[in-house]
This record gives sequence, structure tokens and C-alpha cells, in this order.
Amino acid sequence: MLGDITSQDVDAIVNAANSSLLGGGGVDGAIHRAAGPELVQHCRLLGGCKTGQAKITPGFRLTARWIIHTVGPVWHGGAQGEPELLASCYRESLARADEVGATAVAFPAISTGIFGYPIELAAEVAVATVSSTPTSVQEVRFVCFNDATSQAYEALIAD
Ligand code: ADP
Repeated sequence: MLGDITSQDVDAIVNAANSSLLGGGGVDGAIHRAAGPELVQHCRLLGGCKTGQAKITPGFRLTARWIIHTVGPVWHGGAQGEPELLASCYRESLARADEVGATAVAFPAISTGIFGYPIELAAEVAVATVSSTPTSVQEVRFVCFNDATSQAYEALIAD
């Protein structure tokens, strides 16, 4: 669906963070602005996050109760483990959601902004990984910020 992830009424939203977890541009900046300054204060205690991993925080001022921060790979052409690392972001995020009992989770198109991952390839990894990962999450929402992103997901889901 087209939309802004910060306003989703779900149990948990996923943030495409950077490894410091201290905020950045794109969706990360939007989430920090919407959640309020308590978020960065809390994130300072987490010691960062490695690429492909995920850490969870409260949602603070968001409607969502939780924020799952995951660090996607920077695109370097695709032969440096990018697909596996991106798949790991989706799996690890679902694992964090399961740990707190979140059953509705919204994902942005991780790595496809500043990190340069081609949207068609990233959407394929997202849909394939979410469909094949065992989880108690019942609703996964792919929140698309622009038309190119939603077209990439729709092409896959129509198949
Ligand atoms: P990355 O560094 O992982 O590439 P970005 O934040 O630059 O992260 O981009 C990831 C995706 O999130 C892009 O498709 C971008 O268009 C999208 N995006 C940016 N802001 C929002 C938002 N408020 N809600 C949902 N998606 C967003």
C-alpha cells in the first residue's frame, strides 16, 4: 500500500536504520521525528546494530507500540552478499516481532533509498522472505512511499 509508515496503526513498524541507530535521513528521520526525542535517548543505550540484524524499542509517540530497527545492506552491485543480508533483515525483524507478540507489522522498502538497492530486486527479496519465514505475525504491510515502489510490489503479488 502507498502511505507513510509513521502513521500506520499496527503493533510494530520497521525502521530502515543505519548501524549507529542514532537516526539519519529518509524513513529513519521520519520515524525519529514522529516518535519524539525519547527514541534517540533509548537508542543510545543499544550499542548500534550490525547489517542484517534487528533491535526493538518502544514506539514512544507513535501509534505503533514497537519500532523494530534493522540495518539493510548498502548496494554494491549485488555480489557482496546484499540479497542474503536483506533477507536477514526481514527474518530478524519478524523474530523481534514474535518475541514481543506483535502480530501486525509494517515494513518500508528497506535499503531502496539512500542505500541504493534496486527496488524490483529488493521487493522480490522482501516478498519471498516474508512468505517463507515461520512466524506468528499475521499481517505484514509493505508500506510504499512512492509509485515506483508500490508498482514493484504489485507486480510480484499479481504473479
Ligand atoms: P535505506 O537507507 O535503507 O535505503 P531510506 O530511508 O533511504 O533507507 O529508504 C528506504 C525506503 O523508505 C525508500 O523506498 C523510501 O522511499 C522509503 N521511505 C522514506 N520515507 C518513508 C516514510 N515516511 N514511510 C514509508 N517509507 C518511506
